[in-house]
Amino acid sequence: MAPASGAPAVAVEDLPARLTAYEGLPAAVATPGKDPVNRPMIRHWCEALGDTNPAYTGPDAVAPPTMLQVWTMGGLSGHPGRAAPFDELLALLDAAGCTSVVATDCEQEYPRPLRPGDEITFDTVIESVTGPKTTRLGTGYFVTTRTEIRTTDGALAGTHRFRILKYAPASAPAPTAPVRAPKLAPVTRPRRPRPVVNRDNADFWDGVARRELLFQRCAACAAPRFPWLPGCADCGSPDWTPVAARGDGTVHSYVVMHHPPFPAFDPPYAVALVELAEGVRMVANVTGVPYDKVRIGMAVRVEFQAYDDDLVLPVFRAEAAA
Ligand code: ZN
Repeated sequence: MAPASGAPAVAVEDLPARLTAYEGLPAAVATPGKDPVNRPMIRHWCEALGDTNPAYTGPDAVAPPTMLQVWTMGGLSGHPGRAAPFDELLALLDAAGCTSVVATDCEQEYPRPLRPGDEITFDTVIESVTGPKTTRLGTGYFVTTRTEIRTTDGALAGTHRFRILKYAPASAPAPTAPVRAPKLAPVTRPRRPRPVVNRDNADFWDGVARRELLFQRCAACAAPRFPWLPGCADCGSPDWTPVAARGDGTVHSYVVMHHPPFPAFDPPYAVALVELAEGVRMVANVTGVPYDKVRIGMAVRVEFQAYDDDLVLPVFRAEAAA
């Protein structure tokens, strides 16, 4: 079958045979790990997972076996040792419309423990390519690779079998179907998401509409609270009074959002947890300073920003910039 104009060059009926031709070819050859097995990475791993096994600390420490893949990872800068067949295989699947990928499963074996100071190399082979298989995500092919991790003395430390599904998303055109350009719609800026207003927080949003920043104070124990809730977390009382905040506070903490992008937001931008003078904290944008100049402890003051005809949100302006 000749490919239709604009369609990928791979005819759909030829695809399985072309894919299985990659079975047995290398995906990585004698690639050195980027770092030796080391204590800082082991410690970070254990802290992140809450793993307090004493085998991973002390003079006779071993690396957690499940860290095996960590020592093979290329990080953001990638791996120079990737072999061409694997990239070709993925490009072939991309060209056939299978542009999405999901990891499905992983099997590991640990013949020999790794210890701080061990240097590793690894070889990866394309073990199998099977399909097409239709899943709820879409139709695609399972690609299984098998990696052998060795220490510099040649001893096999572990094997890592990893399977991905490269697929054409169910809502996208089927593999090899020609792609038509969508009809262009007028460009409208996406609107910022609306807050969820319910009977527990409606008074807060009524306050915002009047340019007042309200928090709650428990009528029984006087504890201030935010976000708005129907009961007091300290004493359980359902009775409260609204209090208008003075509006000044400090940045208690913050993150800078780079990824993922959301419609109506232009990364990077800072999202701050602001502690008001009255002691409650709220999440908001900081204005008046670039995202990379926001700092913990920075003095801020509330102002009310209109984003469109029916959305006003409290934001906090850096005092130095006011
Ligand atoms: Zn209370």
